Amino acid sequence: MAERETPVVFLHRVERRYQQGDATLEILKGAELAVWAGQSVALVAPSGSGKSTLLHITGLLEHPDSGEVYLDGEPTSGLSDAARTRLRRNSVGFVYQAHYLLPEFSALENVMLPQMVRGLSREEARSRATELLSYLGLAERLTHRPAELSGGEQQRVAIARAVSNVPRLLLADEPTGNLDPRTSDHVFHALSQLIRASGLTVVLATHNMEIAARMDRRVTIRDGLIIELD
Ligand code: ADP
Ligand code: MG
Repeated sequence: MAERETPVVFLHRVERRYQQGDATLEILKGAELAVWAGQSVALVAPSGSGKSTLLHITGLLEHPDSGEVYLDGEPTSGLSDAARTRLRRNSVGFVYQAHYLLPEFSALENVMLPQMVRGLSREEARSRATELLSYLGLAERLTHRPAELSGGEQQRVAIARAVSNVPRLLLADEPTGNLDPRTSDHVFHALSQLIRASGLTVVLATHNMEIAARMDRRVTIRDGLIIELD
């Protein structure tokens, strides 16, 4: 049998339930998903179906109740908290619906900081941050603070920050969900260019069918399982 490459993400029999008073909400009931290097996957499912839960589990922010999350073929359930944090910091970038930029810092500094935490020098971090922000069309906004940026600009800074440490995997949770349609389109365009140029592996939750249509694959969550669309 021919050997296949290892998926960047492999979710195996992932279960997650929440206790809500007397009721148990079964959100994931044995979800399976393999994402290959360089693939972009849109996760399109109704609100409340478990998209954020799935992304948090994939990004090691949350533990599944059972099942395994493999990153680059390595099981993650046995890792210590410190090892999980290290792996997340080194391998995963997150973009959320809200930007969560640090309000006291400029766009440039917001993109430099994660790199400096990772151990890069100020100059290396500055150079990469400048390059990324320029690539995303923000060359004229480097010294602006988040409050001095539009919603679309803030989200582009958040994207630059998420990829600043060259993650293996980018997880985006409705990244354009708070933006008007035109701005959303602009931000998604910048994101997809970046994805294509960098060969990033991406899982992106969205309600926007046009955005979903431009990804390599589309999946949904149905009855706690991941189902391939088209
Ligand atoms: P989505 O992102 O698709 O809107 P979520 O993953 O955020 O869905 O949530 C899935 C379901 O799980 C929702 O019904 C939500 O209320 C519930 N849920 C999520 N997190 C928790 C939690 N920490 N405690 C209890 N219920 C939760
Ligand atoms: Mg959500």
